[in-house]
This record gives sequence, C-alpha cells and structure tokens, in this order.
Amino acid sequence: MVDPSSPGLLLVLSAPSGAGKTTLARLFLAGHPEARFSVSATTRAPRGAERDGVDYHFVTRDRFAELVAADALAEWAEVHGQRYGTLRDTVEESLAAGRVAVFDIDVQGGAQVKARWPGQAATVFVLPPSLEELERRLRTRSTDPDAAIARRLGAARSEIERGLAQYEYVIVNDELAAAQRQLEAIVAHERARLAGRRDEAASALAEAVRRERVDPR
Ligand code: 5GP
Repeated sequence: MVDPSSPGLLLVLSAPSGAGKTTLARLFLAGHPEARFSVSATTRAPRGAERDGVDYHFVTRDRFAELVAADALAEWAEVHGQRYGTLRDTVEESLAAGRVAVFDIDVQGGAQVKARWPGQAATVFVLPPSLEELERRLRTRSTDPDAAIARRLGAARSEIERGLAQYEYVIVNDELAAAQRQLEAIVAHERARLAGRRDEAASALAEAVRRERVDPR
C-alpha cells in the first residue's frame, strides 16, 4: 500500500562486488512489497538466470546511446567496460507514488542521484567485514584466475574509498541479520525525516546506524 502522506525515498545501495549488497537488497524488497527495485538499462549480456526487464533492461550500445541522447537516464556510468544507467521514469514514478525505490548502482551513479535529488535520496554503502574476507568471498564464488581476482580486489578498494568519502551511511556486512536491521533503521529514519516526523526520525536513527570507518588496507 502506498501511503500518500509519505514522500518517496530513493534508497541507493552500493558496494564492492562480494560485499553482499544484492542479498541485502533482495531481503529488503521481500519484506517491503510496496518498495520497487529500479531496473537499470545495461549494455552487458545477461548472466545465468537473469531476465530482461526484471534484473536489467538489456540493450545494445546504440540503444543505450539513444537513451542518453533522449535524456531518458537519471544517471549512467561505465563499469568494467559496460554501460549501466537508471531510467529517469523509474525515479519520477517512485517519487510521485510515495514509494521506496531501491537502486543497486555503483558509487558514480549513486553520487549523481544524490546530487539530482538531494532531499529524497539516501546513499548507503555496504562494506565487507575486511578486504581479507572480501577476497575469500570472491575466491569461493568464482573460478576466475588469480589475475582477475586481483583486478577485482583493486576495483573494490577504489570503490570502497569513494563510498566512504561520498556516502551518507555505511553498513558493515559482518552478520547478515544485523546488516538487515541497520538498513531497516536507515529507511525508517529517512521516511520519518521526509514526512517531518522528527522524534520518530531521531529514535529510528539512534537505534540504527553508527558510521563505522573501516581502514581499507
Ligand atoms: P553487474 O554487471 O555485476 O550486475 O553490475 C556491475 C556494477 O554496475 C555493480 O556495481 C552495479 O551496482 C552497477 N550498476 C548496475 N546498474 C547500474 C546503474 O543503473 N547505474 C550505475 N551507475 N551503476 C549500475
């Protein structure tokens, strides 16, 4: 159900790959049927069981260029040599409906959403417990050669540096249930803030989130 008294929230989730952001986003969406996942356009090919229109809108590079030229994207970025962008309609419809929209996008894109809708966007960066743990996760879930893993770790390190410098909230995904609670509290805080319920906003935040700086060694 959409609560018309509650303005829409643009919930931006970013993380280096392997930090568990997609799992967190899925759990959040499962618990909030009124929230919507923002389906991005991308030039990369579908992987595994991914479905067009559900996971991504899979488009050609030409089609992507048309979307950019038509100003149909709220933000876009090049990640690992492919283009990814958020459809502007998705953002505007969510705001108009007073919904929470969840964006699984990189830090470059998240910063653009925040700059464009500063009052409505909340930027949340999900950190792995440590770079050692991130490396372990990347190794166990892939059969990539060491060089590819080393490249991803390098990319993860710079994504972490940018996320810590630019994002409003940081969740350390040490234990999934705790990370989930933090994300819920962030959303409760942001929604209460947007609706002008200041006491509620303050108590939700107190329960929730402490920015924990982790040294990205
Ligand atoms: P993947 O190819 O693994 O699905 O995504 C690669 C990266 O692109 C991830 O960090 C993901 O969050 C990011 N990404 C996905 N969609 C978008 C988008 O619309 N805009 C931006 N800036 N990044 C995106």
